[in-house]
Amino acid sequence: MKVLKVDAIRNGTVIDHIPAGRVQRVMAILKPRSTDVVMMGMNFPSKAMKKKDIIKIEGRELTQNEVNSIALIAPHAKVSIIRDFQVAQKSTVQIPERIEGLVVCPNPKCITNAEPMMTIFNLEDSSSRELACQYCERVFTADEMAHV
Ligand SMILES: [Zn+2]
Repeated sequence: MKVLKVDAIRNGTVIDHIPAGRVQRVMAILKPRSTDVVMMGMNFPSKAMKKKDIIKIEGRELTQNEVNSIALIAPHAKVSIIRDFQVAQKSTVQIPERIEGLVVCPNPKCITNAEPMMTIFNLEDSSSRELACQYCERVFTADEMAHV
């Protein structure tokens, strides 16, 4: 596949190092507004990840809370806030204390997989990146959850 250069943005947010194939799930979580100009790049070559996806949102600066909500889908994402074509701020994503309705429970016997209900996970340990399902009480690592 030929790789095209994605246009630089003047003001907004760039999310880099999204695992290839996950860009649409990340977009679903970020829920762009109808006025946002969004560029999505897929399968960019990456030394660290082989292939990666990238999102650029023109005219909107995502907050740390907003970007943290993608932490389970793109745990190693790098977020840059762009102002006047320059990187004004760089951050990584951190798993929030509580994640509601964004990911499914990896436990097939969990009630959340049987009933139409919202999942809730609470961060147990930020250093080992473990989360507990509020319903079945099982504990999963962030990587286990990202692969569901
Ligand atoms: Zn569960």
